[in-house]
Parts: sequence; structure tokens; C-alpha cells
Amino acid sequence: MQKTNKIDVLFDQNHIWHPYTSTENPLPCYPVTKAEGVYLELEDGRRLIDGMSSWWAAIHGYNHPALNHAITNQLNQMSHVMFGGITHRPAVDLCKKLIAITPPSLQRVFLADSGSVAVEVALKMALQYWHTKGEIRSKFLTVQHGSHGDTFAAMSVTDPNNSMHQLYKGFLPEHIFAKSPEIGFFENWDEADFCDFHQQFSAHHQEIAAVIIEPIVQGAGGMRIYHPMFLKRIRELCDEFGVLLIIDEIATGFGRTGKRFACEHANIEPDIMCVGKALTGGYMTLSATLTTEHVAKTVCEGEAGCFMHGPTFMGNPLACAVAEASLALLEQDHSQQQVKEIENIFADRLPTLRTYPAVKTVRWLGAIGVIELHEPVDLAKIQQQFVEQGVWIRPFGRLIYLMPPFIIQPSQLHHLIQAIINIIR
Ligand SMILES: *Cc1c(COP(=O)(O)O)cnc(C)c1O
Repeated sequence: MQKTNKIDVLFDQNHIWHPYTSTENPLPCYPVTKAEGVYLELEDGRRLIDGMSSWWAAIHGYNHPALNHAITNQLNQMSHVMFGGITHRPAVDLCKKLIAITPPSLQRVFLADSGSVAVEVALKMALQYWHTKGEIRSKFLTVQHGSHGDTFAAMSVTDPNNSMHQLYKGFLPEHIFAKSPEIGFFENWDEADFCDFHQQFSAHHQEIAAVIIEPIVQGAGGMRIYHPMFLKRIRELCDEFGVLLIIDEIATGFGRTGKRFACEHANIEPDIMCVGKALTGGYMTLSATLTTEHVAKTVCEGEAGCFMHGPTFMGNPLACAVAEASLALLEQDHSQQQVKEIENIFADRLPTLRTYPAVKTVRWLGAIGVIELHEPVDLAKIQQQFVEQGVWIRPFGRLIYLMPPFIIQPSQLHHLIQAIINIIR
């Protein structure tokens, strides 16, 4: 056993899996000892400006006094208690806030452990809904380039190429994938963009339990930002044929796109909505699946008499307490204005990057900025170059993207953008 205070990076390399990383040929990992505000601090003392919000989550920045207070306060009361037959203030207070800020028709909250599980819950709700109605509907309709998580049902509605469906063939249920939207958020709408979806829907609607889609921004499947009319058209079709609409706001929820929830850009309400990631301000894993009175009632009127799901750590009080505090911050602070300022800087600076030969295109919305290159990056090399410039940016494939904590200062955001320019130049 090593007895120094240094993080045993070699042990990590020899024994610990990291996300989407080979054990045989692992990419380097950077030891982080502290995170504060918009900075990640490496073990060697270097401070990096965080451009990732730890994958959409840390919207208020790290080590936030109000969030620290909420979680330590709760820790001294109770860290966990089972949710079967028991309730507690953190869960009640959080769900009150969630119901208040989400679309008005969503009145029933299911608390789950992670985004993927929230998606599982949503899909199961839709299946039980149709079971009660006496119809067998086992298909979901979605679009290409989507991303809904890594568990099996979530993966089955995630882009088949990105999640390598062929690896799990024979085990993974096969659902229906329409062409993904091509028209960008700020471009002019063209009905042709909806043609394929419309056709798939028309051909299969009697077997479709629900449509599932990420609203406005397709995240891990390619950071694509699409036109709100696409979502509006989906809602219209679902209404016309009584098909449920599941909106996955796990990445987009809580202000990231400039609206509190991205579905607000299209002025629609889903039948089922998943939230996660930024729910706890990036402190802990927690997710929620919200649905309407009608769906909940139908699910529970069925053969089972209840919804068939109940995770061990459901409604974890620590996670609920910090989530409630994070939502309170969203109400009080200037996050909407901060996101607007971030968006203005993206709108001002990103278009100029189109002139670099390595850049294919750029796009942005709210506190999301995306630079798409012609060629995939060499991740190990580019990561090191970013760290040397004092920034934490983690590209994937051909995409370099920024989704900083909302509290980032303009000068810090300019630093992030300049670091990208220095590399692509
Ligand atoms: C990240 C993500 C998920 C999965 O959430 P996990 O907490 O990683 O399980 C699902 N849907 C979307 C849109 C996501 O961005």
C-alpha cells in the first residue's frame, strides 16, 4: 500500500474503469483535489476553468456555500431512510418545487437514482399505461442521434450507431428511428424536415406506446440544436393519435438552453418528462420522472394496481435536500440573465471560428456552444493542450463544446474560447 498523500494514479490505471475508456489502453486521467466556483484544482496546484459543468450538472459552480449548507444540514438529520411507507421533508419540499416549475399538467413525481433510470421509469410508465388500456404497444418512436442513457431500455432508444446496438443484438429491443431534425434552431423552418418522422409515425402509430425525444438539443448523440417546430409537430401528431410523448430534459433542464425547460421553446407540454443531471446542482446523483394525473391514474388502474418500480435509494434525503437548495438558487439568483450573457458571448465569438479550415460549423443556444470539426480530435493530445492552457474542456469525436457553469465570468468564458482558437489554429 502506498502511504503518501498523493492520489494513486497508477492504481487507478490498473484497476478502475472510467467512462467509455479502455482498460488496456487508457487515456490519461487528471487527479483533481478540489473544485471551487468555476475552477477545478489539480493535485499539482494548477487551476483549470471548467467548461463542462461536469457534464451539464454543476450549473451553480462547485463548492457552493448554499448547497454545502443544505447537504451538511441534512446529513446531521439523516442521510437516508427507505421511501417505502415513509416520507420526509426533503422529498416533499423538492417535489413541490419541481411541480411548481415544470409544465402545469405534470403533477406526479417519481424520484429515481440517475438519468438512465428516469428514462427506464418513463418507458415502463408508457408500457403500463397501454397495458391498462388493453392494448399491446411495445414500440417506441424516436429520432437518430438521440441519447437517453446507458441502461438497456434507455440504450434501445439511443442512436443505434453511437451506442453500438449491434454489440447487443438479440438482447436489445428494437425500436423505430426516424431521421433526426436537420434545421437549426435559428434557421427558417421547412416542413420537409418533419417528413420522415411523419411517415414513420403514420406507418407504426398503432404499435407505438410513446415518442421519446430530447427537446431542442440532442446532447451526447452529436450536440445538435434543432428547430422548435419539429417538437411542436410531434406534439400535434401525438395528440391526434393518443400516443404519449416523453420529453427527456435530463441534459437541457434547469435553464441550460435559455428557458427553464427546453420544451418551453416550442410551447408544448409532455405527458412524461425526465429530469436529472443539473437537478442537484451537480452534487449528487438524482433524477425524476414527472407525469400527468391522467397517465398516473391509468398506470395504477391496471392489473398490477401500482407502478412496478421502487429503487432502494429512492428519494435519498441528501440528494433531495441539495436539489431543493439548487432549485431555490435558480429562483433567486440571476441564472437566466447569466445564461443570456453566455449566449451573447457565444453569438458574438463563435461565428468567427467558421473561418478556420479545421472547423466545419459552429452552433450555440443558451449556455451551450459547439464547434464541429471536419476530423475527430486526438483526445489525449488535445486534453493535455487544454490543461496546459488552464482550461477543462473534453471534446468527443469531431465536437469541441462548452457548457460552463452559469456563474462563469465573461473574462473566463473568453479564456475558454481563446483556448479552443489556439488549438484549432
Ligand atoms: C446524461 C443523459 C441521460 C443519462 O443520465 P445518467 O445520469 O448518465 O444515467 C439520459 N438522457 C439524456 C438526454 C442525457 O443527457
